[in-house]
Amino acid sequence: MDTKILSGLDASKALFGGLVARIDHLKSKGVTPGLAAVLVGENPASEIYVRNKTKKFESLGLKSDLFRLSKDVEETELLKLIEDLNNNNEIHGILVQLPLPKHIDSEKVLNAISPTKDVDGFHPENAGLLSIGKPRFVPCTPKGIMFILKHFNVDLNGKHVVVIGRSNIVGRPISILSSLKTLGNATVTLCHSGTKDLKYFSKQADVLIAALGSPEFVDASYIKDGACLIDVGINRIEKDGKSRIVGDVNQESVTGIASSLTPVPKGVGPMTIAMLVENTVLSAELLLN
Ligand code: NDP
Repeated sequence: MDTKILSGLDASKALFGGLVARIDHLKSKGVTPGLAAVLVGENPASEIYVRNKTKKFESLGLKSDLFRLSKDVEETELLKLIEDLNNNNEIHGILVQLPLPKHIDSEKVLNAISPTKDVDGFHPENAGLLSIGKPRFVPCTPKGIMFILKHFNVDLNGKHVVVIGRSNIVGRPISILSSLKTLGNATVTLCHSGTKDLKYFSKQADVLIAALGSPEFVDASYIKDGACLIDVGINRIEKDGKSRIVGDVNQESVTGIASSLTPVPKGVGPMTIAMLVENTVLSAELLLN
């Protein structure tokens, strides 16, 4: 069987194409969607993530302000910055890059972001809206996965979706999204480290979403013929003396057995940034209406 590659780059280009008219409309009303990205400390990976995000905003003619704070910043100072950003009418989305230094209570900080500017979708109010089937800001990675599936005509209706991983930023929200009647309408199984006999479930999946953070964990023995595989993992490994990024799926092992597959890199990753832009545009639209 030919395994179709579900390119996140292609899907994100389609998304950006659709956003242009929405951004133009907002600008015609005097509104430029704006993101505030808050970076605490000097974590090299976080630097790259934030730079990629702000660059994308700039390339689309959107506003993006980067706030750098030292690794020793007091929690109260960070909370004060968030309060100021909550009250700033030119900012429609606030992103606090994780992880935060250990002396800062991440949950307290994320909960301080106004739910109407929570473009990462991590605030309990937005998580609650998603869980009752009325999504407002949905976390970017699961939202991006739903877009990829739609873009490549992978219909979830009545299918069995198996998700490996139950984090609040990927596994749990994608399990909710794909089960919602108005969106996926799939039958969903959510697996985690406590799941007994993971293969029993994963082999039933029409669509298998691997979000466990374990390099090349899912191989051919975990899937059925013709499954669609969404590989969320981003894992850095040393191979043949070189450092490289691999997913949670052993792509070589499943090629020829899976019907389709998101690559790593250039699969789910680009969609995560694309959806951050989409959520910020959405936030500006909600404020305008
Ligand atoms: P977390 O570590 O927060 O969650 C991992 C989940 O996988 C947990 O629910 C854990 O179970 C489960 N798990 C771990 N090992 C196993 C196992 N052997 N069998 C079954 N379940 C297992 O990770 P994230 O959700 O934050 O990220 C997952 C992966 O996705 C990572 O590689 C991360 O880098 C990547 N990622 C990629 C993004 C992108 O843009 N492409 C964005 C975000 C993340 P339990 O709950 O029991 O501990």
